Amino acid sequence: MLADYAVRVEDSRGRRYPEPPHPYRNDFQRDRDRVVHARAFRRLEAKTQVFTRRYSDHFRNRLTHTIEVAQISRTIAAQLGLNSDLVEALALVHDIGHPPFGHAGEKALDAAMRLHGLSFDHNLHALRIVEDFELRYASFRGLNLTFEVREGIIKHSHDYAPKDHPELAEYVLDQRPPLEAQLIDLADEIAYNTADLDDGCEAHLLTIEQIAAGVAIFDRCYGEVRALYSSAAEKLQFNETLKRVFDRLVGDLITNTKHRLKQADVYTLDDIRQHPERLAAFSVEVEQERRQFKDFLYENLYFSPALEGEKEDAERIIGELFAHWMEEPDDLPRNYREKSVQEPLPRVICDYIAGMTDPFIYQQYEKYCGE
Ligand code: MG
Repeated sequence: MLADYAVRVEDSRGRRYPEPPHPYRNDFQRDRDRVVHARAFRRLEAKTQVFTRRYSDHFRNRLTHTIEVAQISRTIAAQLGLNSDLVEALALVHDIGHPPFGHAGEKALDAAMRLHGLSFDHNLHALRIVEDFELRYASFRGLNLTFEVREGIIKHSHDYAPKDHPELAEYVLDQRPPLEAQLIDLADEIAYNTADLDDGCEAHLLTIEQIAAGVAIFDRCYGEVRALYSSAAEKLQFNETLKRVFDRLVGDLITNTKHRLKQADVYTLDDIRQHPERLAAFSVEVEQERRQFKDFLYENLYFSPALEGEKEDAERIIGELFAHWMEEPDDLPRNYREKSVQEPLPRVICDYIAGMTDPFIYQQYEKYCGE
């Protein structure tokens, strides 16, 4: 069933702390289960994806987004003959390092760290969560995930330069990640582009006409749908259109990745790792449409005046709380105070804030920075 270039669980480079095999779950299935049972995973439910619950209860949060990415990734993995257990574990863990308040929170936390000559990166933070912060086992810290899952956390969306990250040397940064990890970033984007159109319409921040005028792939599908279902309610026409957009993106990614593998003469996992570029990719035409789609969302949704207030809140709350704990480290919980003996205080504060849910950080803000 698995393609020759798929990751095989029996060839895994294993865990940091060797463990006896499980009687009926393989190592990637166990990693998937460890992620699902992690506290940081449960907190995704109360972290903003794009919209807070201010507008509606139907919006994606980081947990439902994560489930959507897992679903899309599994479909693509099956079509490409990839290891779907590894893909599922990688999809479920891909956003575990995100701070509260979505991308605004990530930016604000990074800005607060830069005041102290440091930075925040959600992939690196995710690695800290699974390696250190999750405490579930008596004999080691962290989740003791397999090499392939930790490597995928670091490499799924980003190429870190080996010279800038000597601490990541074990993840062979000069090699491409397996296809199982490469497809996560693309499935992530398919999930949030389509979901954000849906949620943006539901929030009345976008109109169908505006989307059709700005997103070519949507416009084409919308034309087909209107010809087929001219008397259907507008919302159903919209849903039908979104479904077609979704299928086109997923279908193109599968077909084009197969095509690229064939063209590149790639047969083994080692070929994938040694290839000069990532092989999971959309076709040139769909890649252009994807970019236009993303630009549209940036211009009309993410940077829309309607979301400005929430972004400013995120910056203010994270900035002020960070500064408060820098001044008054005794207000941090005891386990974080203890950590600041071994690590710089800004890093400890950053770790604490990054783990918070939206409601919890609001509560902390009231407590320490409220009027
Ligand atoms: Mg994501």
